Amino acid sequence: MIIKGGTFGPVATNTYVVFAERGGPAIAVDAPWGGIEWVDHTLARNDLTLEALYLTHGHWDHCVDAYRFAERGVPVWAGGGDEDWMADPAPFNPALFGNPPKRPGVTPDRVVGEGDTLEFGGLTLHMLHTPGHSPGCWTAWDKEHGEALVGDLIFAQGIGRTDFPRSSPRDMLASLERVMTEIPGDHRIYPGHGPWGVTMREAEPWARMFM
Ligand SMILES: [Zn+2]
Repeated sequence: MIIKGGTFGPVATNTYVVFAERGGPAIAVDAPWGGIEWVDHTLARNDLTLEALYLTHGHWDHCVDAYRFAERGVPVWAGGGDEDWMADPAPFNPALFGNPPKRPGVTPDRVVGEGDTLEFGGLTLHMLHTPGHSPGCWTAWDKEHGEALVGDLIFAQGIGRTDFPRSSPRDMLASLERVMTEIPGDHRIYPGHGPWGVTMREAEPWARMFM
């Protein structure tokens, strides 16, 4: 699995282009404000066809530009739980983000659940429901190649916030324990913020400071 990453928007949100090989299908991961041009360039540079936009969860900074993919006819994939936020994206504290203009939302074309898989270009992502940061926060794990798209569950040196509406610190602890148990330590993580490509083993001690 090849993963190219970029960072965009007022809270430095990551977006990724994920594919097996140049010249094949790809998916984009999350749609931060202003990231779609980078996605387009990355697709073009690698001669890729965009098969879908996958949203890790429904927070504004990850979904604000999803409508720009949807209006091109790109299918939107997501795990369940945050669909209402995806349909009506809005920051919890608009002033902090400079009162961004209202944008249209999206209705995912495909909503996956625990144990489901997302398949494209010969790659398989296994869906783990990992709520806590939000009810609909999911981990999409390529077991075969040892890489996991973890959204805002766990970062290279920290964990996602649990002081937002509908966050659950209790669920967060369970989700963190789950991924640290189920995902081998040498598998790499691709979070919604901050550096990517560190191993679960490298991220774990930082996460444990907050557990
Ligand atoms: Zn978030």
